[in-house]
Amino acid sequence: MVQADIVIVGGGAAGLMAACAAARILRKPGAVLVVEGNQKLGRKLLATGNGRCNLSNLAAAPEHYHGDAAAVASLLSSYTPEAILGAFRDMGLVTRADEQGRVYPRSGQAAAVLDALRSCAAEYGAVFRIGAPVTAVRREKVGFRLDCADGETIETGACILACGGAASPKHSCGVDGYALAKALGHTVMPLYPALTQLVCAGKTAKALSGVRCAACATLLADGKAVYAESGDVQFTDTGLSGICIFGLSIYAAEFFATGRIDGKAYRALAVALDCMPEWSFAQVREYLSEICRRHPQRLAGELLAGILNLRIGRALVQAAGIDPALAANRIPVAALQRLTRIVKEWSFTVTGTKGFLDAQITAGGVPLVEIDGRTMESRKAKQLYIVGEMLNVHGDCGGYNLHFAWASGLAAGKAAADAVQRKGGRR
Ligand SMILES: Cc1cc2nc3c(=O)[nH]c(=O)nc-3n(C[C@H](O)[C@H](O)[C@H](O)COP(=O)(O)OP(=O)(O)OC[C@H]3O[C@@H](n4cnc5c(N)ncnc54)[C@H](O)[C@@H]3O)c2cc1C
Repeated sequence: MVQADIVIVGGGAAGLMAACAAARILRKPGAVLVVEGNQKLGRKLLATGNGRCNLSNLAAAPEHYHGDAAAVASLLSSYTPEAILGAFRDMGLVTRADEQGRVYPRSGQAAAVLDALRSCAAEYGAVFRIGAPVTAVRREKVGFRLDCADGETIETGACILACGGAASPKHSCGVDGYALAKALGHTVMPLYPALTQLVCAGKTAKALSGVRCAACATLLADGKAVYAESGDVQFTDTGLSGICIFGLSIYAAEFFATGRIDGKAYRALAVALDCMPEWSFAQVREYLSEICRRHPQRLAGELLAGILNLRIGRALVQAAGIDPALAANRIPVAALQRLTRIVKEWSFTVTGTKGFLDAQITAGGVPLVEIDGRTMESRKAKQLYIVGEMLNVHGDCGGYNLHFAWASGLAAGKAAADAVQRKGGRR
């Protein structure tokens, strides 16, 4: 039998931050125990930001969150980007922001973030139990009793569930954290994958697989624009990818899971790519006329080579129904008009999103009505806390999800340790 004042189930982003916050207050060896089912702490954290860990965003605020975002507004106003970066600075981790406000460790290595959290928690007396997931959590008369996969039992006064979500299961230990929450009386809103690629009908994307284009992508629901984002769009074997596409996928994933976007029912989705967002329709049209005038023998397939990737330019010419071998001076005016429209509004029918295997985050989870949004304490069980991706809050791409993991972990770690101090500890 193992005992601790506070047990944190899950040694990922939120769990490790909770451990630092709690151990820093209690400062007693072994008072805080982190149980991680994987053989290593923070496996997903190491994969974030392509190994560089986009750990926050200077614009982090409720409008960048979805699900029960309103319920965590006060949490986010307490744990601003400055507060979170300050907490990392206290651990010795220096950060830097790029021009879009995305924050990374100064070293450019996710491992530096994991090391800072692990060292800081350990220095304040937290201990780690690695490689045996928690399989059950039961409420006792006082505190909780946890069973681990290796047969060990843990007794604790407070329990923080930080098991992460269903996205990218290869980084997790394979035990369903939501089931632990359900067994303690919580409900779980339907889960669906978000921040992922869009699957598109037709062969165009596949033919361009691997090619990138700076574009503005607009998500159209029944032909109406619901969300637009600019950035690099990448064509893949199955559809579209890239940071701005991930932004669209939050709404697309909601549509494919519920048939609705922001509560409104729709029937079909498409993405329109504006491949020349810096030029108006008239400017693109004028450019095409000028090329045809000055270079009458240029082949239609190369008309867009001066402004777009050659393969994308050819695909657009074909999508406009123009023979790529036609000389520029033989292209009808109506065809140039069609080509201009396609450059500005290249439409792809969206048939789905990639699943949890490829997604960065989980939408859905434990609803915030069941949680105190300032301390992350459960309203179903005293001294039970739930943090991070398990909750029905998910953020935009760009550091917002880790920001929420840190904020909720800090709040829960502090609240749990304060409660232990008030009671004089369990052991
Ligand atoms: C490839 C990829 C890249 C990403 N990049 C970014 C990025 O750059 N910026 C950003 O903001 N977000 C990013 N995200 C999202 C971000 O990683 C998550 O939002 C964040 O890790 C959630 O933190 P968490 O602590 O809730 O869950 P996790 O970090 O997933 O940690 C949960 C931990 O709990 C453990 N666990 C689960 N169940 C049990 C159990 N029963 N017993 C013991 N242990 C258990 C798991 O093994 C896991 O280690 C990325 C996600 C992916 C997949």
